[in-house]
Amino acid sequence: MADCIFCKIVRNEIPARKVYEDEDIFAFHDIRPLAPVHFMIIPKQHVATLYDAGMAQSRALGKMLAMAGELARKEGANDGFRTIINTGRVGNQEVYDLHMHVIGGPDPLGPMILRRT
Ligand SMILES: [Zn+2]
Repeated sequence: MADCIFCKIVRNEIPARKVYEDEDIFAFHDIRPLAPVHFMIIPKQHVATLYDAGMAQSRALGKMLAMAGELARKEGANDGFRTIINTGRVGNQEVYDLHMHVIGGPDPLGPMILRRT
């Protein structure tokens, strides 16, 4: 997808603070971090949402989870972190290129979703 902001980051057309890159995945810091450690891991191949992913993305999706712990530690989240993949309108997905947030420490993050009552 030519004008996708995350694809532009992968192609180095938009600067980003890179955390990791290999042939399948790319990781970079969130420009509006919600915690001291907050980066995204994305498949290099454009996939709009987790709905659109399938077995063609299994290797990249597997690597995203497999690398999350190592990269979180490297970035300083040594006592836990949270991974989030927002999907579609209900998931409050902001950029329509599948991405997994890795958010961590040093303080506990609070409940997964705020209760409305
Ligand atoms: Zn994209």
